[in-house]
Amino acid sequence: MPELPEVETIRRQLAPLIVGRRLGDAWAFPHPKFTPALEVPGAVVEGVERRGKYLLIGLDDDRELVVHLGMTGSLRVRPPGDAGDAYVRAWWALDDGGEALEYRDVRRFGRLVVAEGGRYAGTLAVQGPDALDRSLDAEEFWRSLRASRRAVKTQLLSQRPIAGVGNIYADEALWRARVHPARRTVTRAQAAALLDAVRDVLTESLRYGGTTLSDYRTVEGREGRNQQRLDVYGQAGLPCPRCGTELRSRTLDGRTATWCPTCQPR
Ligand SMILES: [Zn+2]
Repeated sequence: MPELPEVETIRRQLAPLIVGRRLGDAWAFPHPKFTPALEVPGAVVEGVERRGKYLLIGLDDDRELVVHLGMTGSLRVRPPGDAGDAYVRAWWALDDGGEALEYRDVRRFGRLVVAEGGRYAGTLAVQGPDALDRSLDAEEFWRSLRASRRAVKTQLLSQRPIAGVGNIYADEALWRARVHPARRTVTRAQAAALLDAVRDVLTESLRYGGTTLSDYRTVEGREGRNQQRLDVYGQAGLPCPRCGTELRSRTLDGRTATWCPTCQPR
């Protein structure tokens, strides 16, 4: 958390509030994950893009401020006279300094990176195409899944075949596509169904402003509304919405997976 729909919701709300504005004085919590905030004052924001779960704030000097929200990160434009709270990890004054762009992160799993000329450090460099990028087709997705022997759900969470899917949408998409999360090989037809299901669950959640289970808030400070629409995530012990079988869960490579033993045979 947050996954693609939550980060995309933030991107859409944030872009009109900061594009064309100059980043002024900055402050950062003294940790290498947040001090890159101090490298960008003076730059003008040219755009806000997203790849997977990363926000890419494009600057007019060929650099990008890359924001990963971790578990509890959020962004907002802070009004004049509002100092934020103890969980603010960085801020940048906007234009003449009345308002500020604020990054808040209670658990500090997020981070900020400044990338130059499209050269990304760390995990962004090794992740696959964005899950909503239509240039990735089912055949290519299938080949990329076949290249690894790890469980299909673990592969989704790795961000390598496609970027943007975390635990919630992986469980939801695997259930819709009727694919068991621990399968190590999938057929061409299963891969195609899974790619469609991934895109459907992400697009639907985006329409509802994302999923709020605890901390996620939009730039406007609101909760998402997709949490009422989840079919299987976090619902072990409840009946499968499709067939009524009791949903099961287990730990798979360190993360909880929930599935229907009837609809998703091993
Ligand atoms: Zn079922």
